[in-house]
Amino acid sequence: MTTGRIHSWDLSTGVDGPGTRFVLFLSGCPLRCLYCANPDTWHMRDGEQATVDDVLARIERYRRFTGLAGGGVTLTGGEPLLQSAFTAEVLRRCKELGLHTALDTSGVLGARADDALLADTDLVLLDIKSFDAGVHRRLTGGRLAPTLGFATRLNRLGVRAWIRYVLVPGWTDDEEAVDGLARFLADLDNVDRVDVLPFHKLGAAKYDALGIPFPLRDHPVPDAALAERVREQFRAHGLRAQ
Ligand code: SF4
Repeated sequence: MTTGRIHSWDLSTGVDGPGTRFVLFLSGCPLRCLYCANPDTWHMRDGEQATVDDVLARIERYRRFTGLAGGGVTLTGGEPLLQSAFTAEVLRRCKELGLHTALDTSGVLGARADDALLADTDLVLLDIKSFDAGVHRRLTGGRLAPTLGFATRLNRLGVRAWIRYVLVPGWTDDEEAVDGLARFLADLDNVDRVDVLPFHKLGAAKYDALGIPFPLRDHPVPDAALAERVREQFRAHGLRAQ
């Protein structure tokens, strides 16, 4: 029986896909984003072991909430594709139950998602951290190319996508880079919206609890005008940005 390492689960409305959703946080992530709000999900060893049956039993218990208003199940983390076999099986079982499925990923391990996994995924929430490969490397510790390749593959397979773009002043607000990303996305047919997410420091206490430094602790958060400028840049390319 396939088992996975789970950090936690939650119910959310409106942010992790359509409707009210059962959100499953898987443990383990290969990136180390400077702004990460969930450093407690970085290591698989810290997660609780669970079988697919355990997870599905819990999902079924909350079906009266997630069945409303087009809701469903979202797998996030950490990075759910780090445990791709487990993720694939949870998605498949959710589809068998007729639930809408979403996968929140940085795409950096997109090659681990086979076509069957993606066929069981109604929506990918694709986190694109930067459109500048050098900035991406310094901001996350990982390469940008796999994420862009994954975006292109999702388009080819016709998998719907919401793009998430965390806005950090001095890191991801460069006009040229935002414009480049907007042009790249405008060429795809599967992007339903772009969420510009202002960087925040709500995860600071987790760093304190873990005894590790929060690299952006003293960094400014974006103001509303900057967030609107970046959203407008996406809109200028015909994308729905919010
Ligand atoms: S990909 Fe997500 S979980 Fe991983 S370090 Fe970045 S923000 Fe944190």
